[in-house]
Amino acid sequence: MDFGLTEEQRLIKDQIRDFAVNEIGPLVEEAEETEVTPLELFPKMGRLGYLGITYPAEYGGAEADKISECILIEELNKVCAGIAGALSTTHSGLGTRALNEFGTEDQKQRFLAPAIKGEKIGAFALTEADAGSDAISMRTRAIRDGDDYILNGTKMFISNGTFCDFVPVACYTTDPKKVEKRGKGISFLIAEKGMPGFTTNKLDKSGNRSQETAELIFENVRIPKENLLGKEGDGLAQILATLIPGRLAYGARATGLGQAAYDIVYKYAQDRVQFGKPIGKFQANMFKLVDIAMNVDIMRLMTYRTAWLYDQPGLKFAKEAYMVKIFTTETIQQIMLKALAVHGGYGYMKEYPIERMWRDAKMLNITEGTTEMAYLAAARELKI
Ligand SMILES: Cc1cc2nc3c(=O)[nH]c(=O)nc-3n(C[C@H](O)[C@H](O)[C@H](O)COP(=O)(O)OP(=O)(O)OC[C@H]3O[C@@H](n4cnc5c(N)ncnc54)[C@H](O)[C@@H]3O)c2cc1C
Repeated sequence: MDFGLTEEQRLIKDQIRDFAVNEIGPLVEEAEETEVTPLELFPKMGRLGYLGITYPAEYGGAEADKISECILIEELNKVCAGIAGALSTTHSGLGTRALNEFGTEDQKQRFLAPAIKGEKIGAFALTEADAGSDAISMRTRAIRDGDDYILNGTKMFISNGTFCDFVPVACYTTDPKKVEKRGKGISFLIAEKGMPGFTTNKLDKSGNRSQETAELIFENVRIPKENLLGKEGDGLAQILATLIPGRLAYGARATGLGQAAYDIVYKYAQDRVQFGKPIGKFQANMFKLVDIAMNVDIMRLMTYRTAWLYDQPGLKFAKEAYMVKIFTTETIQQIMLKALAVHGGYGYMKEYPIERMWRDAKMLNITEGTTEMAYLAAARELKI
């Protein structure tokens, strides 16, 4: 068993770390304050080949392995979880994964290739106000009219929703009352910015403020049949194909945030003096630091092992992927509480980065399926 990174993975790690620190770092404060995502980062990342790291070379991707993608996500999250979410998890993950797997050649040329270059930005619209964990109870409907579909409905909490150029939208293309099984009859239609009847409302949220989130409203939006993703009625398979590999991204997100928290707390515990000595010399704080370091190590190992499994032809990874989502996104909550505790009152102040990271971490055990839903899915995989 080889636990070392390959030469290529090490190179990616160094390059991404430099990019994140030098290009993203200076933009974080303003983006978090104003809740405006710095869109200029998309073409910059695209030019360097970081937006399609695992995608096929024919569309501009780098065809790297899944561990490399985890490394990329981890390094971005060490600097800013919100911006990292906009660039990697949403754009290069949710927004394009199903296009790569199910899209027609025309769709790949129109959406995937420009997304990999950072010329078009993607999002993914599944959740509705009354259909979250129970996403397939969605009300969004599309009815065929000649060569078009007419789309009606409202999607909630859509990351990158305000500025995306395209967004696969989950909807029923068959009357849900007439399908033989729950979840049948769902399709994805790719809506594009500027289509008449497609509007957005920006939402105000607690963490990850540098990644914009929106409600998307579709009122009689005419979508050409060429924008149907894959086959009509294949939506459920596309949802699973998008969300299950996405669990790995959550492992990498939590690991990045956890590592950054450790680095910050380690330094703070050396610098802050109480009772005449650095607070890191008090065993209560030492133990918290050890706990954080140990859990970051476990999170990283679990994530990379599952990423390795993902890349092995014929091996299953779904059970491990759900467990990565549960363990890492719950563990990061405990890590952040410990990191805040070592900071005392300063951890609660906005000028200290740990305060933002604590708010950012909370999103991870909610989005792309809450912990409870991941437990149910893992239990199904384990046949419990
Ligand atoms: C910042 C942010 C960004 C997001 N980005 C996107 C996006 O880009 N695209 C998108 O489509 N969606 C997105 N979402 C939506 C996200 O995936 C949902 O919020 C999530 O799936 C939970 O749905 P809900 O909020 O409706 O909670 P609910 O489904 O109402 O759940 C409420 C609580 O009940 C629990 N619960 C529900 N059902 C069960 C059950 N059967 N057994 C046990 N417990 C249960 C849940 O675990 C949770 O604790 C985003 C959400 C946020 C907050």
